[in-house]
Amino acid sequence: MQPPRTQERLSHEVFLPEEAHTIRTEVREFVQAEVEPHAATIALQDESKDTFHWQIFRRMAEKGLYAIPFPEGWGRGLKYPVLDTCVMLEELGYGSDSVAAVIDVHCILAGHVLMYADDALRTRYLKPLIAGEKVGSFATTEPDASTDLSIRSLKTTAQKVDGGWYVNGQKRFITNACVADFVTCLVAADGKLCEMVIDLKQAGVKVGEPDRKTGNRGQLTSDIYFENAFVPEENLVGEPGRGLHIALGTLTYGRMGIAATGVGMAQRAFDECVDYMKRRTAFGKKLAESQYWQFRLAEYAARIEAARSLYQKAAYRKDLGVEFPEPEAAMAKFTGTQLAVDIARDAVQVFGGYGYMRELSHDGSTYKVEELYRDSKITEIYEGANEIQKMLVAREIFGKEFTG
Ligand SMILES: Cc1cc2nc3c(=O)[nH]c(=O)nc-3n(C[C@H](O)[C@H](O)[C@H](O)COP(=O)(O)OP(=O)(O)OC[C@H]3O[C@@H](n4cnc5c(N)ncnc54)[C@H](O)[C@@H]3O)c2cc1C
Repeated sequence: MQPPRTQERLSHEVFLPEEAHTIRTEVREFVQAEVEPHAATIALQDESKDTFHWQIFRRMAEKGLYAIPFPEGWGRGLKYPVLDTCVMLEELGYGSDSVAAVIDVHCILAGHVLMYADDALRTRYLKPLIAGEKVGSFATTEPDASTDLSIRSLKTTAQKVDGGWYVNGQKRFITNACVADFVTCLVAADGKLCEMVIDLKQAGVKVGEPDRKTGNRGQLTSDIYFENAFVPEENLVGEPGRGLHIALGTLTYGRMGIAATGVGMAQRAFDECVDYMKRRTAFGKKLAESQYWQFRLAEYAARIEAARSLYQKAAYRKDLGVEFPEPEAAMAKFTGTQLAVDIARDAVQVFGGYGYMRELSHDGSTYKVEELYRDSKITEIYEGANEIQKMLVAREIFGKEFTG
């Protein structure tokens, strides 16, 4: 059950367009009704192909959530699609970061790569992706390359043959892969990095079992193995050699989404704390009467406000047409995700022993802060580790001649 919300009391949205308010309300209602009842089960389950939450995945499609990021003719054609998408992800992060991560990869990563594709490719992959008829995934990471995506590090190759390519190599940690129909994939073809759409249910492709992770257990990740997997010519996205640009443009969008999910998780941990501190007594006083925790929460209220403003500003700049809205996107990523980790750690502390419980044997109760503690950590690592975000900001401060 969700705790009483504090957001409207502490964070006044003076700049957010009406459209994004409407999306917030719509997604909030969806999360309460359709995600919240399953969130604890998703967070506690051990990963397997059978645990992918098809019901929520399909309901998000039916409700038109996958259409929010996309322009008219493909999606909802909203005026501020990036901002609306990030607001949606904040609300999903409040309910379940696993669910937020599934939609982030399906729509923002795989979907956004397809925005660089021609209409024919979009018709084959983007349309069914938005309808929830095909599941999308996105692959840059390999066993020996992720933060460094240069051509010297990437080992997945595409060899030109009549009518297309043969792809060989291995991708790692690929979200949704074990249930996905296709992957938008970064490969090296004739010394050039390219983005290609690769069907996963074809000869020459094998998807491994899902990894067993600390948190985000509803976000299934697997290795993908390519052995002479045929990719037809028309599945190339953009020009040959544009692959890294497309992947990085997509990951820049992705990192604003991760910043927003960080804010959503931070807000949830905060609300859980406020609610619990008003109820729990120690030394004859409520925890909420402890000035130590009052001040900690005051600091977190300010940090949540700042982190929310940052991701919204970054997203708004992208809606204005800035492809790489730096430094705000990078700032938003490390600010929002570090905040989520910090507050989740303190929330476990506020809950004491209960905060450390996956399930209390006495009555089977579960504790959201434990889930947030495990789920939040990955947001500091993926879609550009936070150190890389700080490098991007440092580059804006000092210039490339100092930072490289
Ligand atoms: C749950 C999950 C889901 C994922 N989903 C996907 C997906 O769908 N598709 C996909 O392609 N990938 C995915 N990934 C991969 C993810 O993006 C990478 O794990 C991440 O980019 C970090 O890469 P790495 O693990 O190879 O770490 P490395 O690249 O080895 O980096 C390790 C650490 O080194 C530090 N570091 C690296 N370079 C520098 C530097 N220059 N300066 C300072 N510090 C540095 C950072 O702290 C970094 O965290 C996923 C990973 C996980 C765990």
